[in-house]
Amino acid sequence: MTTFQSLGLNDNLIKAISELGFETPTQIQQKAIPILLNGTKDFIGLAQTGTGKTAAFGLPLLQLIDTSKKIPQALVICPTRELCIQIVNEILLFKKHQKGIGITAVYGGASIGLQIRDLKKGTHIVVATPGRLIDLIERNAITLEEIEYVVLDEADEMLNMGFQDDIEFILKNTPNRQSTWLFSATMPSEIRRVSKKYMKEPVEVTVGKVNTGNKNIDHQYFVVPAQHRYEALKRLIDFNPGIYGLIFTRTKMDAQQIAEKLTREGYDIDALHGDLSQPQRDKVMGQFRDKALQLLIATDVAARGIDVQGITHVINYELPDDMEVYTHRSGRTGRAGQAGICMSIVHSRELGRLKQMERMVQATFHRSEVPDGKDVCRKQFIYFMDKLLETDISQGAYANYLPILEEKFAHISKETVLQKVAAAEFDRFLKYYENAGDLNIRDEKRGQRNSDFNRNKSHEYIGKGRDRNKIFNDGNNGFTRLFVNLGTKDGFYKASFLQYILDMSDLRKDVLGKIDMKEMNSWIEIDKKAAHQMIRAIDGKNFKGRRIRMNDANSR
Ligand code: AMP
Repeated sequence: MTTFQSLGLNDNLIKAISELGFETPTQIQQKAIPILLNGTKDFIGLAQTGTGKTAAFGLPLLQLIDTSKKIPQALVICPTRELCIQIVNEILLFKKHQKGIGITAVYGGASIGLQIRDLKKGTHIVVATPGRLIDLIERNAITLEEIEYVVLDEADEMLNMGFQDDIEFILKNTPNRQSTWLFSATMPSEIRRVSKKYMKEPVEVTVGKVNTGNKNIDHQYFVVPAQHRYEALKRLIDFNPGIYGLIFTRTKMDAQQIAEKLTREGYDIDALHGDLSQPQRDKVMGQFRDKALQLLIATDVAARGIDVQGITHVINYELPDDMEVYTHRSGRTGRAGQAGICMSIVHSRELGRLKQMERMVQATFHRSEVPDGKDVCRKQFIYFMDKLLETDISQGAYANYLPILEEKFAHISKETVLQKVAAAEFDRFLKYYENAGDLNIRDEKRGQRNSDFNRNKSHEYIGKGRDRNKIFNDGNNGFTRLFVNLGTKDGFYKASFLQYILDMSDLRKDVLGKIDMKEMNSWIEIDKKAAHQMIRAIDGKNFKGRRIRMNDANSR
């Protein structure tokens, strides 16, 4: 097994990272560190965000710095202020036992005077955003003469943000550069061009596949009519009660308006967009990082460089125009080996573009259904009850209140108390979802729009549903309906039931149509070609000691 010691790092660095809990080097660290410690080789590291890139270049830099010279020797350039601060903070942790190394962050939106003062004190590693660095060079506040190592972090994002000229300027004006290390999640042709022009026979290392998304991410999409996007967003949030999510919109106005609307409706959300002043932006980011905000809604430009640990869901309120941007958005979740979900709310017209993105990310995108109101309520309900069960009562003097409580509740059964707790917590919620209809477009090919957002339309939908069943029963469209003796009383809700039947039968979700769940039984619309496989896999099997019965409802 590869260890940090075997990569050639010194004891001080090993001590610091083991205190941080790093046990084994990540793939990019294993591949990069031995090469970068050499100090004279150019390097291209293609790796997704969250793979441990900061340590991959930060640790070798700390080992290569000559502390006897108090001048900047290493320059790390990254796209945003947030990333800049994050890199500095991480390197500060790595250098805990490595005395005498100075590190300075320079980025826009903060006092340039203070940054000039910091630089004057003498430093070894400068971590900078391109614009501010150029500003400092023009003011003669920093010289690049003695820079030996240049790191370009998230190079593709810097190019996306229009920093190409700045980067080339910096590379041209570092005459003593011994090596250039470029890290990027994707490899667009402009990066290839920059590397050819400014790097010498770089060692190229790829972790995972180039241009692929992080494999820990489950990509899901939901097909809804454009006018129901907002409602679909709300449902997806409500269906995931523990969500810590980042939502992307294409425009500032959408970000602002959706944040305001959701705030009014009681959600912990704020917006991040280009119209915010730096202090406002810092405040929002601080709250999100501290989890005082459960949700952050942002435009792509405003969200660049955001690296917040533990984001469970990225939601594309709309698909981005640029396909590469999808990779950047989804890369905000599923970091450091954790699982993440990237959900896209799309219209059927966007399915073609989605397919292209799927090819680019080289991962299967799963078509999912916006859950119906009942499923949302059930999920929230179970979440609340689980939280209630997990509540720690060991710390307070709750036992003192027991006699009063026992007296108060003496005439009520446990069941009634539970129902009252549920009603107190869920009344508003249940009322909201009571009449909520189906938001999904189910069959865009035949142009049937079955979305039935509000109640009246919901009745219409039942009608349409019958028509649809008729079509299915007529067998003209390749679908049939299966009956199964499993239902909500078996502890299933739609999503978990779907997962169960797909796992059992090893089929893909796109063979399925509508699922109709009742307490005791359910009906599943399925592609005729797949029906036999599903019946064979499930019929006769055991579920919690009971025999499952599944058959073709049309031939019953
Ligand atoms: P990065 O890709 O540099 O943003 O790193 C993502 C996260 O993984 C950061 O929180 C790092 O502190 C953490 N990390 C980096 N390398 C390791 C490692 N070898 N073991 C455990 N965690 C790590």
